[in-house]
Amino acid sequence: MQDTVFELCDELGPDKVVHIYDPKVGLKAILVVDNVAAGPSIGGTRMAQDVSLLECFRLARAMTLKNAAAGLAHGGGKSVIFADPKQSQENREALIRAFARAVGQISDYIPGPDMGTDETCMAWVKDEIGRAVGLPREVGGIPLDEIGATGYGVSVAVQVAKEYAGIDLNDARIVIQGFGSVGQHAARFLAEQGAVVIGVSDSRGAVIDEQGLDLDALLQAKAAGHSVTEVDAAKAVDGDALIDLECEVWVPAARPDVIREDNAQRMNTKIVAQGANIPATEAAEKILHDKGILVLPDFIANAGGVICGAVEYHGGSQRQAMETIAEKIRFNTELVLERARSEACPPRQSAVAIATERVVTAMRMRR
Ligand code: NAD
Repeated sequence: MQDTVFELCDELGPDKVVHIYDPKVGLKAILVVDNVAAGPSIGGTRMAQDVSLLECFRLARAMTLKNAAAGLAHGGGKSVIFADPKQSQENREALIRAFARAVGQISDYIPGPDMGTDETCMAWVKDEIGRAVGLPREVGGIPLDEIGATGYGVSVAVQVAKEYAGIDLNDARIVIQGFGSVGQHAARFLAEQGAVVIGVSDSRGAVIDEQGLDLDALLQAKAAGHSVTEVDAAKAVDGDALIDLECEVWVPAARPDVIREDNAQRMNTKIVAQGANIPATEAAEKILHDKGILVLPDFIANAGGVICGAVEYHGGSQRQAMETIAEKIRFNTELVLERARSEACPPRQSAVAIATERVVTAMRMRR
């Protein structure tokens, strides 16, 4: 077991791996603090039955790179709780509170919401140990899903990328795969720039209209708990059909690995702006790059949420959060695309290099 942990080590981390067991409430959890050179680590607490040490480590490393790429004074960490998130609220609260107490002394880890946890869970964590991000407004939080922090960041990244992809956002055709929190806000902010949404999907299917969909009707349908396919049944198609749709910007905002080696060739877009985490496999990204499609890597384009969390943690306001997201994502997207152009490499390669260099430089400045 111990060997497994040390097999994960490289020049960046992990700094520490903590296994937590509390038989009183049946808590089994793992915390990975990957790297704290830039400051205390921020990273979500995921609750699911099938989580693992390896998943936790990979997510913690992703947070190290995302926070460094975003230029935050925070390192990366992640925690997982082995439990079903769909249990009684009472049991969930007991687990979260026990977890919070267990990580309370590990002051270089700041928990945030992730799959299976939400802002209420973070309010419990803060109540126990005095720190967490992604809090409800009532306890000083900036509700990032409500204000669309991540979707806004995606739209800022696209505004920078349009120059590199040779497109104009006015009348640009947009496809959103996964019309949830990130997807809806990305669509909304891009539409404000004059873009036209021609295809959207959710877990129940997709709707397509190459002349432009009624965005307000789609947003209202989702707010009322309906599927996008119910807005205009005549235009409803299988979700997979979005892949082939000719457009200028394609935004994956749902599950991992939706763009793969077997379907990447079918894509007919100028930009893929990754709202979701790891929506494309490595092989698929290579195919897209070879086809001349500009891929904005997830940890650059979808950093709006964590930037918002960091602003909240340091006592900033909602307005400051949005300004910081715009400033940081604009600057970093430009940096990544400029380097990718001068080195003729995929943007992900330049993004990983820039983030890693920042972490290594920060490490050199520590004792
Ligand atoms: P969400 O649950 O609000 O929305 C997800 C949407 O995807 C839902 O509409 C769902 O119906 C749809 N969906 C699920 N399976 C699908 C499928 N197979 N095909 C098409 N649509 C499908 O989640 P979210 O918060 O918007 O997060 C979306 C993605 O963005 C995730 O990968 C998440 O990790 C990532 N992300 C979110 C944030 C954030 O601030 N919320 C920040 C960074 C990254």
